[in-house]
Amino acid sequence: MHEMGIAAEIIKIAESSIPEDFDGAVEKVNMRIGKMSSVVPESLKFCFDIASEDTRLKGADFVIEEIPVVFLCKECEKETEADGPQFSCKECGGKKIEIISGKELEITSIELED
Ligand SMILES: [Zn+2]
Repeated sequence: MHEMGIAAEIIKIAESSIPEDFDGAVEKVNMRIGKMSSVVPESLKFCFDIASEDTRLKGADFVIEEIPVVFLCKECEKETEADGPQFSCKECGGKKIEIISGKELEITSIELED
């Protein structure tokens, strides 16, 4: 389960962004995870809950926004949202494509208690 390593990394990044003079709790960690990122959101959330146990992020909500896979057709310049493993343009059937979203794996924000 490689999500455990990723969760540890996220916790490290999140902790380092908490202001030093803040001694309250972290309420929420907001994430963006693309559907092509090879991370299973449920597993990552599960790992986050375990890995954050002894950190300042303990008890924080781990909120995941899943980002759909969208690619751009190089033939007709139209964008298609992929709904399966097939990557061909919905407009012209072209197969020369460029992925423009869906690989995200990032923290968008951290919400601290008032
Ligand atoms: Zn096309």
